[in-house]
Amino acid sequence: MQPMRTLLSFGGRWSTVLGGVVVMAGSIMPWLDVPVLGITIPVSGVLSLGFVTLALGLLVSVLCYRGYRLRLLYVSISVGLLWFSAGQIERTKHDSRGAIMRVEREIAAIGHSLSQVGVPPVSVFNVNKPATDFVGVGLFVIPVGATAILVGCLLDLFSRRLSLKSLPLEFIGFLACRHCTSLLTGEMVNCPKCGKSISERKACRNCFQVLGAAHRYCFRCGAPIDPD
Ligand SMILES: [Zn+2]
Ligand SMILES: [Zn+2]
Repeated sequence: MQPMRTLLSFGGRWSTVLGGVVVMAGSIMPWLDVPVLGITIPVSGVLSLGFVTLALGLLVSVLCYRGYRLRLLYVSISVGLLWFSAGQIERTKHDSRGAIMRVEREIAAIGHSLSQVGVPPVSVFNVNKPATDFVGVGLFVIPVGATAILVGCLLDLFSRRLSLKSLPLEFIGFLACRHCTSLLTGEMVNCPKCGKSISERKACRNCFQVLGAAHRYCFRCGAPIDPD
């Protein structure tokens, strides 16, 4: 189980760190594509609320990279980003198309007056584009990053030895004994309250030497190790 848990912990941590980086990238990428005179002008997310999502992605990446297992915070940010980007996609579809149609109508009115004096009418925006074409790629990249943050938190959570009692505390970000739920630090091998093994490692009950999971005798004092 040890290599499996190490892999879950490693994969979970990096999934969350890289998820934050992907959210940052999605914040800088276009959130809106404005079709003007046959070309598409991308408008970066940081020109609207993208600076907020950029800051959130940076916060998750830096904190997780520094080793903080603030799972509740990361999960909240991730769910918030998923909810926000889904809403933003819908808003962009409706509002941008409406705004462009309004401007186009005004231009058409001017064009109509100009056509009276012989100037041919122009179409500035391509109003026949489907509404989804106004939505920039960044708004689809952010949910990918947010999902990676969420998956990373779950992988990291299940790298811990859990029980139903310790799961809520571990989810918030504490390390908790799965037998008695007392709070632990990362270097503990046995629970200081109930004495039970809480790590993949073991400690000798005679001399407290920290041992490997497969050790059956203490290599320091020779005492036999009880199987966990
Ligand atoms: Zn305990
Ligand atoms: Zn020993």
